[in-house]
Amino acid sequence: MTEQRDPRTLYFHEKFKSQQQDTPALQRQMEPEPDCGEDSYQGSGKLAGRKALITGGDSGIGRAAAIAYAREGADVAIQFFPPEEEDALDVVEAVKDSSGKFMLFPCDLREDGAATALIEAVVDELGGLDILVLNAGQQIAQQSISELPIEQVKTTFTVNIISMFEAAQAAVNHLQPGSTIITTSSVQATNPSPQLLDYAATKAAISNFTVNLAQQLAAKGIRVNGVAPGPIWTPLQLDGGQFPDKIPEFGQDSLIGRAGQPVELAPVYVFLASPESSYVTGQIYGVTGGTNINL
Ligand code: NAD
Ligand code: MG
Repeated sequence: MTEQRDPRTLYFHEKFKSQQQDTPALQRQMEPEPDCGEDSYQGSGKLAGRKALITGGDSGIGRAAAIAYAREGADVAIQFFPPEEEDALDVVEAVKDSSGKFMLFPCDLREDGAATALIEAVVDELGGLDILVLNAGQQIAQQSISELPIEQVKTTFTVNIISMFEAAQAAVNHLQPGSTIITTSSVQATNPSPQLLDYAATKAAISNFTVNLAQQLAAKGIRVNGVAPGPIWTPLQLDGGQFPDKIPEFGQDSLIGRAGQPVELAPVYVFLASPESSYVTGQIYGVTGGTNINL
């Protein structure tokens, strides 16, 4: 029998301590450290023999997916922003008892051609690719459009969405029928916050790209879906993603009354990657704590 647990108190549900970090924020310096399933996620062979790449896999949501995929038996490559190597090494430690390969691919997705080169390197090293999770992203809050540097708009679009076009284009010829692409969108795609003008626009673009690419790739037997998280406790929030005064109450306005933890996203990323979701394509899955109630 499984224990029935109250979602409101299942994870950290106090006020967060005020905290900020320099860019890039590291998960290992957060208080409390986000829960990516390091001590809890148990696999059952759902992805045995699959080859997966997760971008932004060093921390937060990508780390939770990486740990879950490795423990489900996949060979896993994670991409990460090079200065976040310490976090990436913590993921290596978390999956050291898993059976498959686990490989690190540092690269800066703001650089021209970086996403294409990443895919080619991963396909070479893993000997193929079946699961592509496009999850890396940047979020920098600005009070008003007058204060929003156009250079920031460009890098937010490059990292969050243009790199997805590049990666998907480079990957598509390597993906066999049965492969899946999973993007990380956001509630911001449909419920934008005014201080996230550029970020929210990239997330709307990601959702649109996801369902539209599903239409192209279904004919090849490739499914494409997205995940739209609500407020999740990750480093993204601590180096400019939120205004500092918003941190203590982060996520408390959700219906569940607290921020989500990355581990709460892991089962959705596993489901969308596995053949259990064989009839699911062109969908965006919300894991939001109920912050966006839409019919
Ligand atoms: P995170 O900071 O842990 O992960 C983002 C990762 O993106 C970083 O770890 C980094 O490796 C990578 N990245 C950032 N800039 C990069 C660059 N220039 N080059 C290469 N890699 C770069 O935060 P997270 O919250 O887990 O974010 C993962 C995804 O989830 C993002 O797409 C984010 O927009 C999305 N998301 C997060 C939330 C939330 O509340 N945390 C909500 C909705 C959507
Ligand atoms: Mg990180």
